[in-house]
Amino acid sequence: MQNIFNFSAGPAMLPKEVMQQAQDEMLNWRGLGTSVMEVSHRGKPFIEVAEKAEADLRELLSIPCNYTVLFMQGGGRGQFSAVPMNISKQGGVSQHLLTGQWSVSAEAEARKYTKTEILAESALVDGKIVVPDQTLWSISDQADYFHYCTNETVDGVEIDWVPKSDNDAVPIVADMSSNILSKPLNIEEYGVIYAGAQKNIGPSGLALVIVRNDLIGIEREQTPSIFNYQLQAKSGSMYNTPPTFSWYLAGLVFEWLKTKGGLAKMAQRNQEKSELLYQQIDSTGFYKNNVHESFRSKMNVTFQLQDSSLDAMFLEQAESHGLVALKGHRAVGGMRASIYNAMPLEGVQALAGFMKEFERKHG
Ligand SMILES: *Cc1c(COP(=O)(O)O)cnc(C)c1O
Repeated sequence: MQNIFNFSAGPAMLPKEVMQQAQDEMLNWRGLGTSVMEVSHRGKPFIEVAEKAEADLRELLSIPCNYTVLFMQGGGRGQFSAVPMNISKQGGVSQHLLTGQWSVSAEAEARKYTKTEILAESALVDGKIVVPDQTLWSISDQADYFHYCTNETVDGVEIDWVPKSDNDAVPIVADMSSNILSKPLNIEEYGVIYAGAQKNIGPSGLALVIVRNDLIGIEREQTPSIFNYQLQAKSGSMYNTPPTFSWYLAGLVFEWLKTKGGLAKMAQRNQEKSELLYQQIDSTGFYKNNVHESFRSKMNVTFQLQDSSLDAMFLEQAESHGLVALKGHRAVGGMRASIYNAMPLEGVQALAGFMKEFERKHG
């Protein structure tokens, strides 16, 4: 079979070694004669998996002990509602930074539960997307929380700095669905971090939530039990049956990250991979990218052909070279190469090589 490099934005490729291990263990996990999917979540073997996954994640991200880790359901969007239900008062205010499709969606959902205020929005400056920096806006002490998205998966916009509220009065909530685990973080800068799993963690459906303990136990009365941070924290994320297979696979991914040298190493690799593509995009003007250099995503590299009538041919020929799922999101068009942790450097090199060759033939 031809080597396939899968640039899907999500569900995205998982590390080959992880998939191999899951395959090896599928029918006979730990010598039990069953798969991990077929055992009780309350039995000792699965509890070990769950605890090891959390311990590895805590080690990878240096999560302080005053933060709780939850393995929840409902993906990234589930948290668009869970966050306001858990950490805002009835009639409270949430403040938002809008930088692309996902932060816009999160604000629309938060509007069902809070009065939302938009503090700033990304804008085109000289044809490039720019996120206004925090000298131009500030978070009000009156807000229950501030929300932003660290990496806009659709638009290819990533923010490397962390917004601050005066005296840390307002919890910073970050949707990190598409760049969590791509680099080290200072967890203490955040009140809540959440991420749908299917980009950089594991199978879809699972949501990882890292929440500061003082934000647990202030949920609204009507909060559905399965979305209740307090109930889930008390029950070790097993208030109801958790997505056990996804949790197990996430655990394998965390182990894989540790064997690969942890997040500092990942950050280096991700820098190297994304640079390779942006250099290719910038080299002549045959390709273009419309995100200002300081906000270019290291995870989702968006690009357009100067002559968009060649788009279909580009995608078709890429596919015949084993470079798949490069079509941009339907809302923005063009191309998008999603190069999360699991994408090897060889995949990015193959794409850059193909882009060069395509330009030589059609430029
Ligand atoms: C994919 C994604 C989501 C939505 O995740 P679902 O699991 O589909 O709900 C939310 N935010 C960001 C930044 C994403 O990339």
